Amino acid sequence: MVNTQAYLSLSEQLKIQNTTLVAVSKLKSAADIQAMYALGQRDFGENYVQELMEKEAELPKDIRWHFIGHLQSNKVKYIAPFVHLIHGVDSLKLLLEINKQGKKLGRVIDCLLQVHIATEDTKFGFDNTELFQFGTYYEANRTELSHVRIRGMMGMASFSEDENQVRKEFNALKQTFEVHKGSTFLFEQSFDTLSMGMSGDYELAIAEGSNMVRIGSLLFGRRN
Ligand SMILES: *Cc1c(COP(=O)(O)O)cnc(C)c1O
Repeated sequence: MVNTQAYLSLSEQLKIQNTTLVAVSKLKSAADIQAMYALGQRDFGENYVQELMEKEAELPKDIRWHFIGHLQSNKVKYIAPFVHLIHGVDSLKLLLEINKQGKKLGRVIDCLLQVHIATEDTKFGFDNTELFQFGTYYEANRTELSHVRIRGMMGMASFSEDENQVRKEFNALKQTFEVHKGSTFLFEQSFDTLSMGMSGDYELAIAEGSNMVRIGSLLFGRRN
């Protein structure tokens, strides 16, 4: 079920705040996506490769599919032909595979680096040291990496009731984003996207500098 009222007011609010809404449709039916598409939504986020492939095949071709889950290198080839933005790039190995598949297809694939900001260690992503190591590699190998375009960063805050903690984590990611925007990505105009914020914490995320939120349950109801 699509919560039409919630969708309309949220999309209006986010437009004013210049924030892109990615409607997270994982585990939701194609009919639900179609209903939100009819309201004007075009950016949808999915977590599972198989599910995304099935939905992509049957839904309108102008949908911009965001892959927001943990992506295994051996599955990149299945989504590379059509994916709009891969949010969860958390290793050099994965980026190299995306580049390889992009090259085969003659496509440049947009990616976000996932950064680990939460206290839980169950979440994926680069830590600060790894990001600097990555930056060094990237700068030295930029010409080889011509089939990926790093658009920015993505992160998930702790699942916590403690607003200060969540705010602190989003703020830290914003700082990290700015540091790398001013160094490794200094000459790349397209490094412009900071994906942070979900149903429970998107307002805090936007206040701390997010310009792309990934929202599921608020729009589609709870997942089973
Ligand atoms: C499921 C998921 C979301 C959406 O979560 P909601 O709490 O339903 O808004 C956002 N980002 C990622 C990475 C997810 O896996």
